[in-house]
Amino acid sequence: MINQKMLGLGTKRSAIRELFEYGKKRKAEIGADKVFDFSIGNPSVPAPAALTEALKDLIRNTDPVALHGYTSAQGDAAVRAAVAECEAVRSGCDVDPDLIYMTCGAAASLTVSLHAIVNPGDEIIVLAPYFPEYRVFVEKAGAVLKEVPCIPGTFQIDFPALSAAISPRTKGVILNSPNNPTGAVIPAADLEKLGKLLTEKEGDSDSEIFLICDEPYRALVYGDVSVPYVPSFYHRTLVCYSYSKALSLPGERIGYILVPPTMPGAKTVYAALCGAGRALGFVCAPSLMQYAVAKCGNLTADLTVYETNRKLLSESLGNMGYSITNPDGAFYLFIQALEEDAAAFCEKAKDFELLLVPSDSFGVKGFVRISYCVSTEQIQAALPAFQALYDSYRKKD
Ligand code: PLP
Repeated sequence: MINQKMLGLGTKRSAIRELFEYGKKRKAEIGADKVFDFSIGNPSVPAPAALTEALKDLIRNTDPVALHGYTSAQGDAAVRAAVAECEAVRSGCDVDPDLIYMTCGAAASLTVSLHAIVNPGDEIIVLAPYFPEYRVFVEKAGAVLKEVPCIPGTFQIDFPALSAAISPRTKGVILNSPNNPTGAVIPAADLEKLGKLLTEKEGDSDSEIFLICDEPYRALVYGDVSVPYVPSFYHRTLVCYSYSKALSLPGERIGYILVPPTMPGAKTVYAALCGAGRALGFVCAPSLMQYAVAKCGNLTADLTVYETNRKLLSESLGNMGYSITNPDGAFYLFIQALEEDAAAFCEKAKDFELLLVPSDSFGVKGFVRISYCVSTEQIQAALPAFQALYDSYRKKD
């Protein structure tokens, strides 16, 4: 018999993917401009022109055999040096190129990290709401996923709840800041508290607890918000990065894992990452993309549209009466559904051609996620539909 767990994952799409596929079908039926698709986090702006130029230059001026050949399993040495240099400039801390592992995006960064640290039966804590694929990645690595709800309203870390959830079996905590789906950013003061808590808990049970920082949205912050360098706050931090969002390269599958040199046993942990990458087949990330990000990794796409969209959407929906927490980062708005059952609310939204993701698979009930990485015109065109959806609930009262 084939693996039933994998069969289940392959035959039942995630709620996000399900809606995305529905959107494609619906657009073919009634026209793309009539469907307000807010389902998926696919960046709506092109990669920077400098990246296109770098690709052209690489293709024109590099020996094609070398360009498209295998690199070292952990990534090309010069690429890792360039990535380390970028991280060192950003953080002001030492970064070792020999502790950088190039991956196929954040999904691979996370699965490789989890497989490297987890033994069967270990627990990995996620802070709800969280990116739904965490459950798939954690369980595939052989660990048990433990949800800890964030503080309602702010979606910041609930420290008493987190402290109570940590047990001698806890092997890691996944932190995603800026967060998908809430847009919350964890401030430095909370990272300091978190570092202290994890250090204390490690001491209490003589265990190793890893903080796995999933940071694909690191460059997407608004106003004067910034994302601190987490290894400065906790010694056993793994940074999982991806160029999918900031460089608008989600389909190219490129990112990396950083092990800080200050981590106890850093070289051993890195060797385990290399082993996990090998076991999972995540060796030698796409070579052309490795060389391109080595040249352009410190750039971003023009992200200004997300700031415009965030303001337009949160102000407009707030004025209509929807309950909103203004996001500090990423490109998602997380709003309260107008009925208890978020899935039923999203079904109702479809009557107005609005495609919104219910919060259940993010580990909380009663909310919906709106991905505003779309054109500003789409948001403007969708506002009457949001109003009509709101009014349809008022009529029921
Ligand atoms: N982590 C989070 C929080 C995400 O939102 C996503 C994608 O949307 C990923 C990881 C996966 O990113 P990638 O496309 O780089 O694999």
